[in-house]
Amino acid sequence: MSESQSIVDGMVVTMHYKLALDGGQVIDQSEGEEPLAYLHGAQNIVPGLEEALTGKSVGDSFDVSVPAEKGYGPRAEEAVQTVPRSAFPDGSALEAGVSFQATDQNDRPIMGTIEAVTDDTVTVDFNHPLAGRNLNFSIEVVGVRPATDEETTHGHAHGAGGHHH
Ligand code: ZN
Repeated sequence: MSESQSIVDGMVVTMHYKLALDGGQVIDQSEGEEPLAYLHGAQNIVPGLEEALTGKSVGDSFDVSVPAEKGYGPRAEEAVQTVPRSAFPDGSALEAGVSFQATDQNDRPIMGTIEAVTDDTVTVDFNHPLAGRNLNFSIEVVGVRPATDEETTHGHAHGAGGHHH
């Protein structure tokens, strides 16, 4: 029954994807793994990709280039912050390039990446690693089905390729 269903809000979509930066560097892909499942219309994926998937159905394959504004947003210079070394627990590995998880003002988890370290300070970039980047997706839709009530309540897909809990 699901073969002809097209993607609208409230559907669980299963897809294979490949994500490349401008220049062709592939940074993420589902090949060799189970396809990704997400709940359409619930901001599980970046807005530009969600827009491109709207109306597609099983078997559709397409490429879409999502600009940063509809991806992870532009880079914000104010998201680069210099903090005292003492803000980190003793024994932390403090060197450029190291990523760690912190929490923002709203207590939500965010990733920080250390840009520079001095004797007294650590400069951290809290921008999403893909902020300011165009995202070039290759997509193959492999499943479309209505979300269960539980998935709708949780705001994400369950089962293979989705959340397990
Ligand atoms: Zn859930």
